[in-house]
Amino acid sequence: MAMRSFNGIVIRPGLVIGEARLLKTQNWVIRRHHIIQDELEAEQNSLNAALARIRAEMEQQLQAFKGADSDREILESHLLILDDPEMLGQIRADITDKLLSAAAAVEENFQRVRDHFTALEDPYFAQRASDFKDVQHRLLHELTGSSAQIPQDWQPGQIAVLEEAEPSLVNKLAQMGVEAYCAEHGSYTSHASILSRSLKLTALASLPNIFQTVNNGDTLILDALQGKAILNPDADTLNLYQDLLKKYQHSQETACQEAELPTQTQNGQRIKLRLNLDLNTELEAVKQGNPDGVGLYRTEFLYLGQETLPDEESQFQVYRRIAERYAPHSVTIRTFDLGGDKISHLIPSAPEENPYLGLRGIRFSLAHQQLFETQIRAALRASAFGRVKLMLPMVADLKDFLAAREIVHACMDQLAAQGLAFDPDIPLGVMIEIPSAALCSEELAVHCDFMSIGTNDLVQYTLAADRNHSGLTAYYTSHHPAVLKLMQTTLMAGEKQGKAVSICGEMASQAEYLPLLIGMGFKELSVAPASWLNCKAIIRRCDEDLFKIVKKADLNSLSAIENLVFERLKPYYNL
Ligand code: PEP
Ligand code: MG
Repeated sequence: MAMRSFNGIVIRPGLVIGEARLLKTQNWVIRRHHIIQDELEAEQNSLNAALARIRAEMEQQLQAFKGADSDREILESHLLILDDPEMLGQIRADITDKLLSAAAAVEENFQRVRDHFTALEDPYFAQRASDFKDVQHRLLHELTGSSAQIPQDWQPGQIAVLEEAEPSLVNKLAQMGVEAYCAEHGSYTSHASILSRSLKLTALASLPNIFQTVNNGDTLILDALQGKAILNPDADTLNLYQDLLKKYQHSQETACQEAELPTQTQNGQRIKLRLNLDLNTELEAVKQGNPDGVGLYRTEFLYLGQETLPDEESQFQVYRRIAERYAPHSVTIRTFDLGGDKISHLIPSAPEENPYLGLRGIRFSLAHQQLFETQIRAALRASAFGRVKLMLPMVADLKDFLAAREIVHACMDQLAAQGLAFDPDIPLGVMIEIPSAALCSEELAVHCDFMSIGTNDLVQYTLAADRNHSGLTAYYTSHHPAVLKLMQTTLMAGEKQGKAVSICGEMASQAEYLPLLIGMGFKELSVAPASWLNCKAIIRRCDEDLFKIVKKADLNSLSAIENLVFERLKPYYNL
């Protein structure tokens, strides 16, 4: 079959070349929907036996689980679903009263609950729905006697191709020594994806039609560095990737060896290299090396996909935990960046025609002052337990900053009156992610304590190219001269006022951009945990020459920048 390429999302980065092996997760058939009265007892018994077998298997899997403790809870929640008395009561009643077969009763009742969760159109309940689906599938496999999900003759080096990963399947894959999988559906934040990262599986998801297209035995390249799967590569592509794989393995080894060495360039420029974290990723953050704290702690996940609004106390506990974990380094708590594509069902808000140009980030917080105050108070209280900085997203200009600062000061007064401890000198910074903020950065730098460039949004707003639009990647050009000018303007404004300027957008995590950014003079970066070691190794390659090359380069022309980044600076990021 001819070579084909599929674009998707990286669940956990890596590069793997192997043989495709399709794994059908829904290969049961419910042959009998109804039973006769005489079969009632046998049917209830077979349900009990299936429950007991799955319970034993789940317990064994929990014992053997090698991922993070926090992720173990995902599998523990499946045990609770399996034992849910209401669900089991209804299934048993349907067998007895409606004479449904056990499989049909399981199918019907689980589906009802899943449909209910799905209809709520909320990420939290979508997650619940997929956990129920996982347990439902396990029960149906047992009850219909369909084949085990993973064949016993699995060979090392085979890559699993799935319709969609499920937590229990991911766990089994890891236990069987499978190194990588790709899936037609799935999202970065699903429980299956969280477990994949915890269990160190290289994985790609959301690859349209891959499951229908792949045949067992096909050669498959999982380029989970660039979010691509390549099926049946031609000889040139295969050679190219075999070379890349060697280099990648070498760079991983180098990065690991250098993990504990200082994060500085050859000519002695110390670079602060921090982490971008959120509730989902904080526990899988780098174990090696010594990150200079957290440069971006995304907090909106406290609101997204939750059942209730997080109160001050629960937020305080989260912020305190992360502040203590990274002390004496700083943790930059970014206030909620709700709005845009991050909508919480907990806060009623009017539909917007252009959500990305609407009530987003700091605008949303200023419009929901009580919510904002609760968060600020919680973050301030956490500042007594480590080095906390506060950062405001989507600031358009100084008035946004001043309005927010007034609220921060009011919260400080409240806490002081209550005798609650906080850091009165807590730094208050802004994200530069709207072109107006970059263009007004000089004025902002006078008043704020630090600035951090969010290139993900800055690129989208500068070039009017939706960051999530897969058809617009040719327009979404992070190295565009317009973007670089805004970044440079911000850097210069910070330097003039003696205020730190960092970059916390994805651009800083992308190897090919790192030498350019270092050469431009950025000394503080915050990157995704999975890229941290590699970024450090690249920084350690940067030298005097690099600074000279970038200084002389023409950053006004896209083609000159492309030549610079993708040709001349290549030796610095090709480890
Ligand atoms: C950014 O916009 O670059 C950024 C870091 O914020 P987010 O990706 O959360 O919008
Ligand atoms: Mg942003």
